[in-house]
Amino acid sequence: MNHFEIREIPGKGRAMVATKNFQTNEIIFEEEPFVSKQFSWNAAYGYAACDHCMRPLETVLENVRRLASDPKVEVPLLQHDPTASWVNQFTQCPRCKVRYCSEDCLMEAQKRYHRVACMGAFRADDTHPINVLNETWKKMHYPPETGTIMLIVRLMAMYQQSTKKEEFFEQLQSFQALIVNREQKIYHKMLGENFEQQMEQLYLAFCQAFQGEDFARFTTPDAFKTLMGIMGTNSQGIATSVLSQWVTIVSDLPLSDPEKVQLDQEIDNLYAKVGEFAGEFLNNEGSGLYLLQSKINHSCVPNACSTFPYSNDIVVLKALSPIQEGDEICISYLDECQLERSRHSRHKILCGNYIFICQCPKCRAQASDPDVTSDEEDDDDDEMDDYDDDDEMN
Ligand SMILES: [Zn+2]
Ligand SMILES: [Zn+2]
Ligand SMILES: [Zn+2]
Repeated sequence: MNHFEIREIPGKGRAMVATKNFQTNEIIFEEEPFVSKQFSWNAAYGYAACDHCMRPLETVLENVRRLASDPKVEVPLLQHDPTASWVNQFTQCPRCKVRYCSEDCLMEAQKRYHRVACMGAFRADDTHPINVLNETWKKMHYPPETGTIMLIVRLMAMYQQSTKKEEFFEQLQSFQALIVNREQKIYHKMLGENFEQQMEQLYLAFCQAFQGEDFARFTTPDAFKTLMGIMGTNSQGIATSVLSQWVTIVSDLPLSDPEKVQLDQEIDNLYAKVGEFAGEFLNNEGSGLYLLQSKINHSCVPNACSTFPYSNDIVVLKALSPIQEGDEICISYLDECQLERSRHSRHKILCGNYIFICQCPKCRAQASDPDVTSDEEDDDDDEMDDYDDDDEMN
């Protein structure tokens, strides 16, 4: 039973409201994604993730050696490798060789989309329309990645395979609708300067990949833009890493102080080695759409946060502070650094990425602050300068 409800709040719109008191760190809910997918470059570079749930498919030793590009790196305390108990369960689709962490994931993928999505031997064929579409996307969207056209490809397969197409379509539509004249900002953010031309190219490649009556409702220019918009504004980033899972486990071991100092040193060395070669790209990365989690509004003083404690795509919403029955449950769409910035800076990021003006208690309290931009801000925020605070939408 859920202890929250989705409700209209006058003057604010749809919101998630607690129907009981939650203590700090209490789990509010857990949710599997409606759809999830590893990012295209992340997959192309060999970051090993289950094609269904994104669980890491490497031992910590394999992971560190690949990231460091050094087959001789050693990792201590391998008895605490979180993958060790999984390795024997790894499997793959017999036809296309896509890899899964378990028979369960293989079966779930088959049940929901992979029967029609399986490309068999064409998976390695550069001229296959799906591969052409993915390559077209990759040429427009370099790391750090924030989305992938392959998430939309998976949605199409889910639709094609679904026996309840109208229900599926309604669920897809329940993701926040876009306000039409704001769409361009999202595409700009995802596709960069030449977004109109790129959108056209991507659209043509999409239509090539999804021909026929089955997909007619998705292959109009507007429907395609809506799909791109849903991905751009509603998707939640997912990162999984066997290395960070291992670090969490070994950091909790009951060790003596000297042992702890030595372990910390070894962990620092490992991160230095992998960082040297892989830079900041250490994780399996992708994104997902969550029916419930996507209904949670943003606040710059959030009382909840999304966590991924199982190292897969299951999101666990946790209370960050005590929540009273009747309180709205809010998460932050901004990362920790961004949250510390000025109100003006925060609004520019939120406008650019999510198309709304934040009216949270912190923003209201700072409403009279001058429109200064925080020092640490990136240059690319300047492109959002055309958002003025009188642009308020709610
Ligand atoms: Zn899996
Ligand atoms: Zn397959
Ligand atoms: Zn705010």
